[in-house]
Amino acid sequence: MRAEIISVGTELLLGHTINTDATHVARALSSLGMDLLQVHTVGDNGGRLESALREALGRAQIIITTGGLGPTDDDMTKETVARVTECPLEEDADSLRRLREYFGERPISANQLKQACLPRGSVAFPNDAGTAPGCAVPVGTGQWVILLPGPPSELLPMLENSVMPFLQKMADSVIASFMVRTFGIGEGAAALRIADLTEGGNPTAAPYASDAEMFVRVTAKAQSAAAAEALAMPVVDEVRARLGDVVYGINVTGLEAVVVDKLRESGQSLATAESCTGGLLAKRITDQPGSSEVFGYGLITYANEAKTKLLGVPEEMLAQHGAVSPEVARCMAVGVRERYEADYGLGITGVAGPGGGTESKPVGLVYVALSYGQDVWLRELRPQGRYLGREWTRRLASSHALDM
Ligand code: ATP
Ligand code: MG
Repeated sequence: MRAEIISVGTELLLGHTINTDATHVARALSSLGMDLLQVHTVGDNGGRLESALREALGRAQIIITTGGLGPTDDDMTKETVARVTECPLEEDADSLRRLREYFGERPISANQLKQACLPRGSVAFPNDAGTAPGCAVPVGTGQWVILLPGPPSELLPMLENSVMPFLQKMADSVIASFMVRTFGIGEGAAALRIADLTEGGNPTAAPYASDAEMFVRVTAKAQSAAAAEALAMPVVDEVRARLGDVVYGINVTGLEAVVVDKLRESGQSLATAESCTGGLLAKRITDQPGSSEVFGYGLITYANEAKTKLLGVPEEMLAQHGAVSPEVARCMAVGVRERYEADYGLGITGVAGPGGGTESKPVGLVYVALSYGQDVWLRELRPQGRYLGREWTRRLASSHALDM
C-alpha cells in the first residue's frame, strides 16, 4: 500500500520549524509496512496545497496531511481537502460535543466552532490534547486523505491512538526492521562489504552514518511479523559476520547502553575523568536507566589544578608533557579508578577546538585512556584530513571511550 505525506505550514518553508511531524508519520507508516513514496512541504497556500494533493492522489492510496487544522485564517487544509475530494464540510456532532466540553463555560467563537466541521463521510479522530479533531476523508475508490493537526503534542497521541489502528486494518504486509550498530568503520567501507546483500530488494540492507557511528538497517516485508523476521534474520547474521567485531549490538540504543548492561552483568563499576568532553561521557552513561548500579563518580577536571587535586596528576607531568598528552590521559584513568574505587577508570583529554591548537597538538587531537587492574590502554584520536568541529570532536571522544 502506497502513501504520501503533505506537511502544510509556511514556518516549515522558512526553516523556523523542523518538520518532525513528517518523521513521526513516516515511522508509523513504515512500521505498518506501507511504502512512503514522497513527502511534500507546502506553505499556507490553498492553491499549492491543492496541486500537491491532486498529484499525490494520482500515485498513492493514503495521503496524510499535517498542519493547518486550527481556527485561524491561514489554516486551510480542511477547506482545500473538502474541495479536492468533493466532500463538503459538515458539522460533526461528536466533534462539536467534544469542543463544547473543552470550552466549558467559556464562550466559543465562530472560528473555533468551524473546527467541528469535517468533510462529509469522514471518520473523525478525537484530539486529546487540543481543539482541532483530525479525520480520514474517503476518496471514492478505497483512497483516503488523513488530516492531522500540526502541533506535535496533538499529532503524536492521535497518530498512536487513532491513525495507527485505522491504518492497521488496511495494511497488507508487516515490516520487520533490525538495526545492526557498529563503531569504528566508515559508511563506504561497510557498504562495499555488504553490497551484494542488498540486491534482492526484500530484505534490504542499507548502511548509513550518524553521530560518528555507522548503522546497517535490515528491513524485510512479509504477510506476518514472524515471516518478516524469519526473512530478515539470515541477512542480519550475514551483515554481522561480514562486519566483524566493529558490531556492538543489534537493536540496542547505543554504545552507552551496551556498556552499562555489560557492567551490570559482571557486577563491575566504572568511574570517569573528563577534560575536553566536559561531562558528555558521564551524561551518556547516566542517560541509561539503572546506571547508578555501575557508575558512582564522573569528574570533570577541566583545569590542570583540578587534574592534580582530584586525580593526583603530578604538576611536573603537566608541565613537562602538557594536559593533552598520553601520559596525562593514562594518569587520569588510573587516578579516577584508584581514588574512587571503581573497577574501570576512563580518562579523556584533548583539544576540542576551534582555538587552542598548535603544530604538534592540532585541534581535534584527543587522548582516551582506560585503566583496569594493572593494565592501561590508550587511544590517540587525530582528525582525519579535516577538523570537524567542537561538538563532533567531543562526541567522537566519548564514543571511543565507551567503545574501549
Ligand atoms: P493550531 O490549532 O495550533 O493552529 P494546526 O493544525 O493549524 O494547529 P499549524 O497552524 O499548521 O497547525 O501549526 C501549529 C504549530 O504546530 C506550528 O507553529 C508549529 O510549532 C507546529 N507544527 C506545525 N507543523 C509541524 C511539523 N510538520 N512539524 C513539527 N511541528 C509542526
Ligand atoms: Mg494553525
